[in-house]
Amino acid sequence: MSFWVTLWAAVFGGASAAFVPRVAHRLAVPRDTRPRSTCADCTADLPTWVRAGAPCRCSRPPVWTMAAGAVVTGLLGAAIGPAPLLLVLLPAATLGILLAAIDLRCLRLPDALVALLAAATVLPLSLGALLTGEPARLGRGALAALLSGAIYLIIALLPGAGLGLGDVKLATVLGFTLGFVGWPALAAGLLAPHLINGPVALALLLTRRAKRRTALPLGPALLAGALVGIVLA
Ligand SMILES: [Zn+2]
Repeated sequence: MSFWVTLWAAVFGGASAAFVPRVAHRLAVPRDTRPRSTCADCTADLPTWVRAGAPCRCSRPPVWTMAAGAVVTGLLGAAIGPAPLLLVLLPAATLGILLAAIDLRCLRLPDALVALLAAATVLPLSLGALLTGEPARLGRGALAALLSGAIYLIIALLPGAGLGLGDVKLATVLGFTLGFVGWPALAAGLLAPHLINGPVALALLLTRRAKRRTALPLGPALLAGALVGIVLA
């Protein structure tokens, strides 16, 4: 583990996550609705997409979002070290924080953002694998994406699964990177979301903050699971 790589990765993650709340606030709207141009709480204008810190003057500073960003990228920096893979995964992690923030607010994973995450991971990783003469990693990533997508599609089709097609698409995209890293990463990345969401759902039930039929977002657990897979592998 390189201390400096870990530190700079964490600083990058914390700083870039500061820009997440404004974008998340504007994009956390129901399906087929235009992005919000005014604050959902105080109706003040939100003229731009770019604002570091709180999404609106009426909201609190996004301490938890920035902490999550720093922890996620710090873990990636510690696990991967100074390697091209880290350069690809740092911006991808910020996109992941944005997706999680939107899913937590409105139970949606916008297609455009999932597609952006796919482009930001699949394209550079594929190019890197071809340039370094490791096409096998590319094939493994593609196979893992198909496998991960198929497993989540089957779960989504089960009655009462509480899992949407957005989750299936995200699991497919994350499957590529996990497979690219290796089969153990994919196995951990597929298993971990359920180990994470199970206790969370139980805690919410016990504290009466959720009912048995309350829909819980799976996106954050899928993203956290992928992180666990990459870090452990
Ligand atoms: Zn406001």
